Amino acid sequence: MSERVIPLVDQRHPSLPLPATVQGHSHDLNPLPLDGLRRPLTDLRISVTDRCNFRCSYCMPKEIFDKDYAYLPHSHLLSFEEITRIATVFVGRGVRKIRLTGGEPLLRKNIEILIKQLAALRTPDGQPLDLTLTTNGSLLARKAQSLKDAGLQRVTVSLDGLDDAVFRSMNDVDFPVADVLAGIEAARAADLGPIKVNMVVKRGTNEHEILPMARHFRGTGIVLRFIEYMDVGATNGWCMDEVLPSAEVIRLLQTELPLVQLDPSAPGETAERWGYANAQGEHDPSLGEVGVISSVTQAFCGDCNRARLSTEGRLYLCLFASQGYDLRQLLRDPTQSDTTLAATVDAIWRGRTDQYSRLRSLRGPDTASGPGRRVEMSYIGG
Ligand code: SAM
Ligand code: SF4
Ligand code: SF4
Repeated sequence: MSERVIPLVDQRHPSLPLPATVQGHSHDLNPLPLDGLRRPLTDLRISVTDRCNFRCSYCMPKEIFDKDYAYLPHSHLLSFEEITRIATVFVGRGVRKIRLTGGEPLLRKNIEILIKQLAALRTPDGQPLDLTLTTNGSLLARKAQSLKDAGLQRVTVSLDGLDDAVFRSMNDVDFPVADVLAGIEAARAADLGPIKVNMVVKRGTNEHEILPMARHFRGTGIVLRFIEYMDVGATNGWCMDEVLPSAEVIRLLQTELPLVQLDPSAPGETAERWGYANAQGEHDPSLGEVGVISSVTQAFCGDCNRARLSTEGRLYLCLFASQGYDLRQLLRDPTQSDTTLAATVDAIWRGRTDQYSRLRSLRGPDTASGPGRRVEMSYIGG
């Protein structure tokens, strides 16, 4: 089968030059790398496919991701062995948490095999990884138990509303809400928890779903998180008018469901946590909590410890980066050892100074981007 030509809309720009690591010399791999803003590398997101069965308008709009869109040919994707090898290197350099994403990660054939391989990895002090996956939930009812059996610890499910018509129009493939809810139930039955549910809030599209979603998940042990609609990629026609700031989401929730702010659960945590309060105004753990992820109105770059590996093995240092480092080239070069890979990862991370959201908010949020040369979310994962 011939490979298709990459079209004009393609956002996969040429990769950045790899830092020169001294081949054949022993590299000093101690201590673990800190980036240029003294942030450690603890979290790796791996995109396992650039394909998806949904066409959420904020991520893979139908007009662009149509039948002629040139997805990556299979030979360009990292194999499970390549992913596990590079993940092992990252774990040696400080990574404690791996999230599989995409595209829709459950579309990658035999994903359970990869999960099994990653679940066997141990940190240098012998701990298993925090291994999780973000999914649109469409295949979860079918796959939850096999994912659990393979060693997945937990899942995050994306769901933008409970109203069937609203949800069908947001996923733009007429996918029913009931099937995603069945997926969440299957994940719960398979003990893939704590389960998180991510809702992207677009002003004028689904803000009226905020309270019904909160009522639905309150007291279930599932943590609902509201995500500000972000200016990722270059195809979603983002504009500030469609962003509902998290502060407004919290205000709206408080009109009916009293909340108290909670401490962050871990450094680098993207979500601000709010607990449902009892009549005394204290957090009632049996009612649970919600989170808000304010990527537009409140930057959390200061302790951003995340790296992203694209489906074809490029390392991106920021969700808003336009270029990544081609690690696949090293993985497929038989002369390159794991030590060289580790030294390369260290050198790339040490050179990192990315803080896109913080700089944007210093300029004012409505100065954000506009179409640029950034990669698509479906390519590097959320
Ligand atoms: N397909 C899977 C899913 O939807 O969960 C995983 C990949 S998706 C790119 C990861 C997350 O990014 C989802 O929770 C999705 O809602 C979120 N996302 C995508 N585009 C976004 C945007 N423009 N703003 C905010 N969140 C976005
Ligand atoms: Fe697919 Fe997830 Fe993007 Fe929606 S957000 S189009 S489900 S990759
Ligand atoms: Fe991290 Fe970039 Fe997001 Fe800032 S904008 S939190 S550096 S991914």
